[in-house]
Amino acid sequence: MYRGLPPGLPRNWQASRLGKATMLQDSFNRKFNYLRLSVTEVCNFKCNYCLPDGYECHSRASTLTLRQTKTLLQAFALAGTKKVRLTGGEPSLRKELPDIVALCKATSGIDSIALTSNGYHLKRKLPRLIEAGLSALNLSADSLNPYTFSQITGSNSLDEVLRCVDLAFELGLKKVKLNAVLLKQYNGKQLQQFLNFIKDKPVTFRFIELMRTHDNALYFNQQHMPGQGIRTILENEGWTLQPKAVDAGPALEFCHPDYAGQIGLIMPYSKDFCASCNRLRVSADGKLHLCLFGEANDDLTPWLDEDDAAGLATYLTQRVLKKWQGHQLHQGRSGLTKHLAMLGG
Ligand code: SAM
Ligand code: SF4
Repeated sequence: MYRGLPPGLPRNWQASRLGKATMLQDSFNRKFNYLRLSVTEVCNFKCNYCLPDGYECHSRASTLTLRQTKTLLQAFALAGTKKVRLTGGEPSLRKELPDIVALCKATSGIDSIALTSNGYHLKRKLPRLIEAGLSALNLSADSLNPYTFSQITGSNSLDEVLRCVDLAFELGLKKVKLNAVLLKQYNGKQLQQFLNFIKDKPVTFRFIELMRTHDNALYFNQQHMPGQGIRTILENEGWTLQPKAVDAGPALEFCHPDYAGQIGLIMPYSKDFCASCNRLRVSADGKLHLCLFGEANDDLTPWLDEDDAAGLATYLTQRVLKKWQGHQLHQGRSGLTKHLAMLGG
């Protein structure tokens, strides 16, 4: 058993074994049944809001092995996690991705396995991922204009991403979403193009407000545009806000009777955004981040190396009590997050 207690634990903490599944709940009564797990920091794109110079390897930290990942998943499941999203960097670059999906599938309690990807070369890999148990897919498509797409991402692969959407449906995946980061001078005036796309396609296109990170402060000042402007246009054009499920995250979803698809809005700078936070994050090297923009993380590898899922589950239930009420982005503080490829967004 790991004996050196990580910082931040209550003094009376004991690695008592959890007999049955529990629920992660923080001191603001938020419940966490959703884990975002990064499976690699490496990326092959150069999105100008994330890795404008491409991926550069700075850390020597090693990526969790399959065995460590299995223990991690068991611990989170014991602590009530029901949904896992695999992310990165670019998760499809990890050779063992189908094995990781299969591990999620084999973990009792986890009933939703999602992937967020830039879609590159995913078409070839998708059948095996779905066979392994993948149940939901989010693809990044920051613009539907091929030129704008390549300006933003440094890649000419828009067609490939869009083919992947069709393939996902053909292969029977029910939940397919597209993500676009709102960027004033790139896709900021392309709403109509996005709307045309979802007229007959039952996908949710989600607009994510650009978040300021350590590395993109100048870019943020030039490109950030609040999602509220889009919301106003949508509501004026007959789109209605969908009621949220009790355990839903912070995204707002809108639908319209004339459209097969939906629009999602993720507005991290809006009031009370953090009140519906339902997720925890683990980096590819096994660090727990209570918040995407937190000032600290916890190394979980001591429990993973000991294969101590029950001990880790107990630790998580205690540790989550330290989660802050909200991020500090309004104060210009983005914590440890240099860019979102570090943690997976
Ligand atoms: N590489 C994959 C992809 O791009 O979909 C997964 C990792 S990426 C970090 C996850 C999501 O975070 C993507 O939808 C991406 O557009 C978004 N993202 C990255 N940096 C961001 C930022 N500074 N603000 C808002 N969203 C960001
Ligand atoms: Fe890579 Fe995703 Fe970051 Fe783009 S947003 S650079 S695809 S990690």
